[in-house]
Amino acid sequence: MEREGGCACGATRYKLTADPMIVHCCHCRDCQRLTGSAFVVNLWIERHLVEADPAGLTSAAVPGGSGKPHEIFRCAACGTAMWSKYHRAPGDTVMLRAGTLDQPDSVQPDVHIFTRSKLSWVTLPAGARMFDAYYRMAEVWRPERLDRWRRNLAGER
Ligand SMILES: [Zn+2]
Ligand SMILES: [Zn+2]
Repeated sequence: MEREGGCACGATRYKLTADPMIVHCCHCRDCQRLTGSAFVVNLWIERHLVEADPAGLTSAAVPGGSGKPHEIFRCAACGTAMWSKYHRAPGDTVMLRAGTLDQPDSVQPDVHIFTRSKLSWVTLPAGARMFDAYYRMAEVWRPERLDRWRRNLAGER
């Protein structure tokens, strides 16, 4: 399924040419601070599946919880944060912010992470998969998505 999205001013548009490998809802303190909100919803997807004009983006690195930087890509014109690269994560992938999709309801979180810092008034849906911190990929990801991840790690498309 293809999805499109963009920034607040309209200068930066993108197209996703495939479904994400997984959708995270992250309740960590860094994501709360960086979004100014209660959590972030991120589509984890191979970078080459995000079609966008890189000339319209600026990036800035912030310290990541892992000790490796977390690089945030923003519309150069309006500053809307579009996606991130976590340098802790191997492979050539990005975490794209679901709120920038034209239809953000076209994805739902597969897993809630870092719920140890979830705000107390946020109630997760019954049956939602959740982890105090992070999780083991082999226990959570669908097998074909793990295969995609492995192909990306190997530098294949
Ligand atoms: Zn913009
Ligand atoms: Zn987070």
